[in-house]
Amino acid sequence: MILVTGGAGYIGSHINKMLHQNGYETVVFDNLVYGHSEAVKWGTLEIGDLADTNRLEEIFLKYDIDAVFHFAAYAYVGESVKNPHKYYNNNVVNTLHLLDAMVKYNVKHIIFSSTCATYGVPEELPVIEEMRQTPINPYGASKLMIERILEDYHRAYELNYCCLRYFNAAGASPEGEIGESHTPETHLIPLILAAAAGDRDNIKVFGTDYPTRDGSCIRDYIHVTDLADAHIKALDYLKNGGKSTSFNLGNCTGSSVLEVIRAAKEITGKDIRAVFEERRRGDPPILVGSAKKAERVLGWKPQYGDIDTILEHAWKWYCIKRY
Ligand code: UDP
Repeated sequence: MILVTGGAGYIGSHINKMLHQNGYETVVFDNLVYGHSEAVKWGTLEIGDLADTNRLEEIFLKYDIDAVFHFAAYAYVGESVKNPHKYYNNNVVNTLHLLDAMVKYNVKHIIFSSTCATYGVPEELPVIEEMRQTPINPYGASKLMIERILEDYHRAYELNYCCLRYFNAAGASPEGEIGESHTPETHLIPLILAAAAGDRDNIKVFGTDYPTRDGSCIRDYIHVTDLADAHIKALDYLKNGGKSTSFNLGNCTGSSVLEVIRAAKEITGKDIRAVFEERRRGDPPILVGSAKKAERVLGWKPQYGDIDTILEHAWKWYCIKRY
């Protein structure tokens, strides 16, 4: 049995689906603060909060857990700057509860949902795993702290881990039954699609004077189904005795905000009004990751790498969700 914390959320629900496609049984543990019960279409949903250690114990006693996939976290960068307590408490303290339960119940493998936000403004591009991690907001810092804790728990308690540092997760399940749905929504692609659907008047472009090819920020968008595939491979790797380590998950290519808007116009066939705004605080100009290590060690290669496919799947989901 695999425990998927945060499995009702955007990324967690896609991994939960793929675990089932690969023959695993899962129990999803989610407090449903940001997650959606209807996204848990596979396995068993147990509603609960990692802050509640008694409830957590119940789960470890009730199920014979072999490994944990840990997605439960808050992930709004701006909010983390305004309310760091919320992030350190939920992301770091509650992860300690989870890890302590794993140690107590002798569960040896964890796949941890980390982020390129742990790098801050990267020294070089594309970002490789060995680069200095100097996060520029409490969200990124909270994820980096967990990475450090995992290293120490590995040394002290033989807990095996893979930290997967995602670049910009995007897209939706190609079959269209799950996808991205945040409240509030702050991410570029769902906001662009909302503008395409007429649910918003426009899309704001945060910054037009970045040192990039068209002045807007460049990000490495990675399909959520490709992310899911990397998680399954990371678990296989650990089960086969692979050394605990971290992997970047990205496409090694970037799209600018304006390029994503242009591609979305093509895919949706709709007009999308762009409004130029000031830079958003804390945004590095370019974030593009090298996933060579994941390719070499895990044998992972993204299948849905191009931005058009990502947008196509996200649009299909947006239209299904809307009606
Ligand atoms: N962005 C934008 N308008 C929006 C939301 C985002 O121009 O309404 C930009 C943002 O500045 C960044 C990129 O789109 O350069 C991706 O932002 P998102 O919030 O989707 O992900 P992040 O890179 O913050 O993880």
